[in-house]
Amino acid sequence: MDQQARVVIVGGGVMGVSLLYHLAKAGWSDCVLIEKAELTSGSTWHAAGQITHSTSSYGLGKMAGYGIELYQRLEAETGQSVTWHGCGSLRLAYNDDELDWLKQTVSVGAALGHPMEIIGPDEIRRLHPFYNLAGVKAALHTPDDGHVDPAGATMALAKGARLMGARVIRHNRVLGIEARSDGGWRVMTEQGDWSCEQVVNAGGTYARQIGQWVGLDLPIVNMTHHYVITDSVPEFQALERELPVVRDDREVSGYIRMEQKSALIGIYEKANPNTVWDQGTPWEAEHELFEADYDRIAPWLENAFERMPILAELGIKRTVHGAITHPPDGNMLLGPAPGLENFWCCCGSQIGIAWGPGAGRYLAQWMVEGAADINMREFDPRRYGAFADRSYQLAKAKEDYLLRHETPFPGFNRPAARPVKTTPLYERLKAAGAVHEEVYGWERPRWFARDGMAAEDCYGFRRPAWHAMVEQEVKAVRERVGIMDISAFAKVEVSGPDAAALVERVIANRAPRRDGRMVLTHLLNERGRIELEATVVRLPGGRFSFICAAFFEQRLNDWLTRQRGDADVAIENLSESLGALALQGPAAREVLRQVTQAPLDNESFPWLSAREIEIAGVPARALRLSYAGELGWELHLPMAGMARVYDALWQAGQAFGIENTGSFAMNAMRLEKMFKGAAELTNEVTLPEADVMRFVKLDKDFIGKQATLDSLEAEPPWRCVYLAIEVDDADCNGAEAVLVNGARVGAVSSGARGPTVQKSLAFAYLDPAHATPGTELEVMILGERRPARVLGEAAYDPASRRPRS
Ligand SMILES: Cc1cc2nc3c(=O)[nH]c(=O)nc-3n(C[C@H](O)[C@H](O)[C@H](O)COP(=O)(O)OP(=O)(O)OC[C@H]3O[C@@H](n4cnc5c(N)ncnc54)[C@H](O)[C@@H]3O)c2cc1C
Repeated sequence: MDQQARVVIVGGGVMGVSLLYHLAKAGWSDCVLIEKAELTSGSTWHAAGQITHSTSSYGLGKMAGYGIELYQRLEAETGQSVTWHGCGSLRLAYNDDELDWLKQTVSVGAALGHPMEIIGPDEIRRLHPFYNLAGVKAALHTPDDGHVDPAGATMALAKGARLMGARVIRHNRVLGIEARSDGGWRVMTEQGDWSCEQVVNAGGTYARQIGQWVGLDLPIVNMTHHYVITDSVPEFQALERELPVVRDDREVSGYIRMEQKSALIGIYEKANPNTVWDQGTPWEAEHELFEADYDRIAPWLENAFERMPILAELGIKRTVHGAITHPPDGNMLLGPAPGLENFWCCCGSQIGIAWGPGAGRYLAQWMVEGAADINMREFDPRRYGAFADRSYQLAKAKEDYLLRHETPFPGFNRPAARPVKTTPLYERLKAAGAVHEEVYGWERPRWFARDGMAAEDCYGFRRPAWHAMVEQEVKAVRERVGIMDISAFAKVEVSGPDAAALVERVIANRAPRRDGRMVLTHLLNERGRIELEATVVRLPGGRFSFICAAFFEQRLNDWLTRQRGDADVAIENLSESLGALALQGPAAREVLRQVTQAPLDNESFPWLSAREIEIAGVPARALRLSYAGELGWELHLPMAGMARVYDALWQAGQAFGIENTGSFAMNAMRLEKMFKGAAELTNEVTLPEADVMRFVKLDKDFIGKQATLDSLEAEPPWRCVYLAIEVDDADCNGAEAVLVNGARVGAVSSGARGPTVQKSLAFAYLDPAHATPGTELEVMILGERRPARVLGEAAYDPASRRPRS
């Protein structure tokens, strides 16, 4: 007879133990963590243990803030020492871009309520008299940062979990995991089998192997990283306080801090990064370190000694060279495993000591309550699909390692291992100047280089050169006609006798009743939070087509499959076989008319309807809608016909001044039109909070309805508002603080410059007391407070006449 538990967590590093602690805290004490050796014996024990508030990610900022807060009180709660050192930290800037990043971080920190400030060389010198500041312009000072003893902190979490009734079993290797017929899992171990409702993969460097047992190919690569500890530093002996941790991205590509009276120097070398255990981590590995490879880190280590000359003559008493898990984009894999039920990932963490507490807290919420309190999208394991094969994983993880101490420019478009998925238009559009971005493996045009500009990425915090190009694309769509390859959209078809009933149940809007009608709608979880936004089209034969952002492809498939239950419904993912084009602008009808016999007048083909038409001999489904807010169509057609249809439209469009357009123009136009996007519609918010109740039908049943009603009744914690900001050199990237009289009242979710309306626009989630149109407030952009106003209607075509024209 199997032993029973509600949840079995495989792996006793900081990630798994933190989850156990937080599940127990949430009332799920009937959980077991199984570790093959000692707790922390994977990557956790040898970590340097630093935690910083410095990040421009809102989600990671929340996790880091929580981690610091928890570590400070954990010792009192559990009686187990975590050795918290609240020494603060400094992140140095040597040039304007680096300084802008620090300023951006201050804007995000202000939204999160994290203390931080930018200080000049004199103040840096006062805080850290031993650092050579030659060339340093400024530093971000985060006074509440620090470091812990990773093993002690993990043991404290384990003790806390045990005190709340959870179990930890050590020296027992999990040998396999298999699905049970009741939807739960059987976990086979050296000491017998466990049956559980839910299982969690917290296997660290083994997580990929554990995933393989159940058919997953988790994108995790083990990179190795060094830190060295010097002999005791004479100058440190008399210090009465601990020096702040210094993060020097430019010169050291790493961090330097005090380790008792020695110095600890960690290096992220910027060349030849090293992977280990590519074929699998040996099961017998335990407290594993690798021989130091000083050649690899020497240039940066030498720079470190130059920056801290008091260390230059000292010996190195210990070198730690250990493995760290890196997913392709560097973010954790935290959430449901793709394609499986009740199987969770809590792995892929490269900064697990800092992120572990928050990761455990928010994943526990997701498991227990059905949704986490913070937006988990950037961590969701379902952001990867089959496109992320092993060669992609390896190339991306190395790239991620190399980027660890580079300036993270907004929208940075990581180049390694591309292209993966292309449409037949890829080369054509590239030749026309397209600068592509990768979305769910797809290459999608972002903007087009014109006027002799090089077709390559340009980045900056202050309106990079692509703005001029985007302005031209927007002008083309607003005044003439633009065409964009939007094939990356996820496209899923639902059919069968019970299709209509399933669709009605999973969407908050009314499912279209007549063939050729469509609705914009939201899929909610039981907490009434938004899983995703989709367009749903009713097709002949009782079929329905779901179209949503590329990122949600796996999520949409999994959600529909999960909700299907016993219903007689087929779910078909057509994302790769169907391509799509957006043709929009006042001349869109005239252009389309040249290449199809189908009637396109308002009566035959009204706004928000779909028709099966033929374009240049290719059968296509035309949807009359436009995310840019113009007269326009989305044309969905077999991928094989894309080139033919594009060429025909391009040819026909010549007389009308057609232009290629990309996602940056689309984003600017949707902001001009006050259309919310994926950044606004997240698992963090309900429909009333997102202010999208006009897309909801409360006279029918749907998943999340009761929570939506409750949210309507309750005083909302925030509301989504639309802002115009007075700024002429930079725009919001998301997560910037919104202030009233200097006090924090919310945070931006997304922003862009609206070229037609000549305004910097943004959406933000604000305290409802400040959400009334006309309210004057301030948005902190690059550390400076800029005046802003809440707008009550779209900055462009508020009456929405143009799309219906
Ligand atoms: C040199 C270095 C410095 C670092 N410095 C920092 C830092 O300053 N700050 C920071 O936040 N992070 C730092 N890290 C990263 C940090 O160590 C990791 O992110 C973190 O430890 C990952 O924790 P984990 O729980 O995911 O993995 P692990 O700690 O590896 O835990 C996974 C556990 O799963 C167990 N396991 C695997 N398979 C099985 C099985 N089949 N059955 C039972 N048990 C199994 C393993 O034995 C292991 O104990 C550093 C890493 C290195 C190498």
